[in-house]
Order: sequence, then structure tokens, then C-alpha cells
Amino acid sequence: GLYGSERANSAGLDLNAPQELAPLGREMERAAKRGWVGAPLVAGQEAGGETRMVQNPADLSDKVGEVRWSTPEDIETAVARADRAAPSWNATPATERAACLRRLADLMESNRANLMALCVREAGKTIADAIAEVREAVDFCRYYAARACEEFSEPKRLPGPTGETNEISLHGRGVFLCISPWNFPLAIFTGQISAALAAGNAVIAKPAEQTGMIATEAVKLMHRAGVPGDVLHLLPGDGAKVGSQLVRDQRISGVAFTGSTETARLINQALAAREGPIVPLIAETGGQNAMIVDSTALPEQVVNDVVASSFQSAGQRCSALRVLFLQQDIADRVITMLSGAMDELRVGDPARLSTDVGPVIDGEAKAVLEAHITRMQKEGRLLNRTGLAKEASKGTFVAPAAFEINSVAQLKREVFGPVLHVVRFQAERLDAVIDAINTAGYGLTFGIHSRIDSTIEHVLKRLRVGNAYVNRNTIGAVVGVQPFGGEGLSGTGPKAGGPHYLHRYATERTVTTDT
Ligand code: GLU
Repeated sequence: GLYGSERANSAGLDLNAPQELAPLGREMERAAKRGWVGAPLVAGQEAGGETRMVQNPADLSDKVGEVRWSTPEDIETAVARADRAAPSWNATPATERAACLRRLADLMESNRANLMALCVREAGKTIADAIAEVREAVDFCRYYAARACEEFSEPKRLPGPTGETNEISLHGRGVFLCISPWNFPLAIFTGQISAALAAGNAVIAKPAEQTGMIATEAVKLMHRAGVPGDVLHLLPGDGAKVGSQLVRDQRISGVAFTGSTETARLINQALAAREGPIVPLIAETGGQNAMIVDSTALPEQVVNDVVASSFQSAGQRCSALRVLFLQQDIADRVITMLSGAMDELRVGDPARLSTDVGPVIDGEAKAVLEAHITRMQKEGRLLNRTGLAKEASKGTFVAPAAFEINSVAQLKREVFGPVLHVVRFQAERLDAVIDAINTAGYGLTFGIHSRIDSTIEHVLKRLRVGNAYVNRNTIGAVVGVQPFGGEGLSGTGPKAGGPHYLHRYATERTVTTDT
């Protein structure tokens, strides 16, 4: 059926099992020493012009490798070849396309150490996050493979009173452009591409500027898994140049984008300004995610979930918690305990297993966050700031910070890092809190901690939000189990890892035959 299938999620790795971790650690060390090169992959061949050096965000003196950026000719060749290859990929049985994705999932699992090493060294992911990253990528492949087999294999008969035979079927749209972010450089990258391929599209993948090497490794595995070189091309490069040349190209018949709300708007405008067919944009953008905690909540559990939601992955998730609303009666207790928990966080080298918080992605991200923290020091009240490990001076680290502020209106835009804002509220002002969250205009994740069912029901009924979490943290949505995505300023939907995702990458056809 639509919501279930025989598919199982990837088992991942058990961080408490030394027999699993030791060999992985050795393999990752070997992988770290390799000279990695990222490059455009055009028609299955490495291409590219100007080269960029890639630094490890945890230690800027550590050169991870190089990425060649795409030339205008690479872009033209890739689009022309993809455009020509799209019909035959679309005509390939969905079961065969799915088989490629299942092989890809297996290849990613057997190459886990390389992929993890790149996630740690190119993107600053902790070991735990790197494991989850590979697991999610694998899950996307197997999930969309299962969805494609179920929905794209056979036309579906429609019952009806017309006395004819009516059938509806799903097909690829043509060439899909997938523009992905650096915060999930493997999982979201693979999620977009595997969905587009499963639905029968050729794909042009434009990875984030910061994570071109992981993208190159992933696309090489996709080709090894059987996706033809003409069907899938990789074009690393500057978003403003490569991305905008691509979105203006009339041969692009759909765009999947995960990133900032501002960039999604620019893409939407560029698509709207094009001559020719009107094409869809699937945008998954930011959030100003909130959590409401009433006085019946368990403070220990709240603190655990807040720390995970706000500071895991250095807060660099669109699902991360930014604004914590604490009912006045419980606020001082939670703040005291939260402050203690923040003191215990270890911020430092992400390659070390005991590290809780790694670096932010680059110097620019760090500068934006530090500027925000400076502003908050004036406009809010500092609750606590975690200390940094000694080695942190080598990289782009931002120590987790928590501020008390008066209102969510003080935050103009999404703050993409380990900064939490706390707002107190009186019990009778609960509806005003809900209004404030809705008024901010985002609608991605939301958390509520309460032991009163009617409060939970009341809040969830009024909030406009894509993923609501009750009495738990707000991150780490599981493919196929917790479909993920927002509304309003947070995106267009559909939900990644959900039953309707592939439809947006597809066209529908109805065939009516007189009988
Ligand atoms: N799916 C991720 C989560 O649930 C967040 C994805 C993102 O940050 O774009 O934490």
C-alpha cells in the first residue's frame, strides 16, 4: 500500500560495538590519507576547469583535496546529453531503475568508510552524524526504489461509469536539476537524485560549493551501480554561476532545491521568467523551529531533547530547534539544568568519537553566527556558552550558546548554527505563543513537551508545521517512517522519504480507450 512496503531501513552501525568500530576507524584513517579529487562528471567522464582547494573545517591547515569546477562547456554538454538520454531512461522499466538504486544502496554500505571519512573531513561531521548520513542515503535509495516499483511499473485502472477503459500512469518529466546543500552532503544529495532517477528522469546534479568531493564519490558509485553516464551528470561549481545558467535553460524540466528560502525564491523567479514549458520547483528551505514546554513536562527529558535538537550537528540542520518557549513556572529549573548540560558538551575534533559538536562549515558561516551572537549579547541575556577544546582554534568552530530573549520577533532570519533562543511565557498566553510561531511564517519542525493530552491537541491543531514531535527531540526524521518537509517559508512540500515525493518528479497521463 501507499504507506507501507516490505522495505527495511538500513541497520547502520552500533557506536557501542567496538568490533564494528575498530575496522571502520582503520579504514577511515586510510581514506583520510588518499588525495581526493572532486570534478564534474559529464557523460561519465571527469571534466572541469579551475580548481578549488578543500580545507578541513576542523583544521584549516589540513588540505582534504581538490575540486575542479564546471566550465560553461561542461554545463552545455551535460544538459544536451541528459536531454537526449532522458526518453530511454524513462522507457526503462521502473523495476530496472529501482534495481540500480538498490545496487547503489549496497555499494554505499560497502564503501561506508570512504563516504564517512569525507563527511568528517570535508563537511566537519561527527562520527555519529557521518554514520547517520550514510544510513539515510541508503534508506532513500531503497525507499524510492520500492515506491517506483509500486507506482511506476503498471498503469493503474480507474473504475468509473463511462463504459470505457481508463488508466492513469506516472512518467519522468525529462531532465531534473537537483541542487543540494552542504549540511547533508550525501543524504540529501542522494535523496534528490535517487527520487528523480526512480521517477524516470535524467539528472543534472549541482552539489553545494563546500562539498564537491563527497558528491563526486557518490556519483561515481551511482554510475557503478548502473546509472548510465548520459543519464546522470555532476556539475560542481559556484551556485550563482552554474546554478543560474542551469535554471534558465529550457531543457531543464524540473528543479529540486534544498537550501535557503532566499535562494529558493530566486530560482522560482528565474523559472517563472523562462519562455517555454512551465516547470515545477520542489523547494525544501529553512525554519525558525520552535518548541513549547509547559509546566507538566519532565525537565530532564526536556533538557536532553533540547540539547540534541539545538546543538547536534552544530545546529546545522533545517530541523534544528531555534526558539524554546518555556512556561514561566518551569523556566528557571529548565534553564539551570540546560546550562549544566551545555557545560558537559565537548566541542572539538569531529573525528574523535567523544566529540559532541564539530565545526561549522566554513569561515563565512562562523562570521555570520558570531555576528548574531554579538547582537544577542546586547539584545538578550546570555544563559550559557559552552567552552571549546584547545584544538578548536585551528578550525571554524562556534561554541554553543543560549540566550533568553523577549520575543521571537527579535529574530529576523534563520540562524543556522548552535545558537538557542529561550522565551518565557505565562500559561494563559499559550495562544499568543502559537500565533507568534505561525506569524514568523516558517513551518518545518516543531516540538512540544507536555503531559496533558488536551494541550498537545490544542497546540497541534493551530500550528502550521510540517513535522511535529511530541515529548522528544525535533531532529533526525527517518526515511519512510517520518516523511520530512515543511510549508510556508520552509518549502513547497512534498515530504522527502514520504509516499507522495516521487509524484512531484513525474508527469501523470490518463489514457481512455473506448471498449
Ligand atoms: N532531515 C533532517 C532531520 O530531520 C534535516 C534535513 C535538513 O537539515 O535539511 O534532521
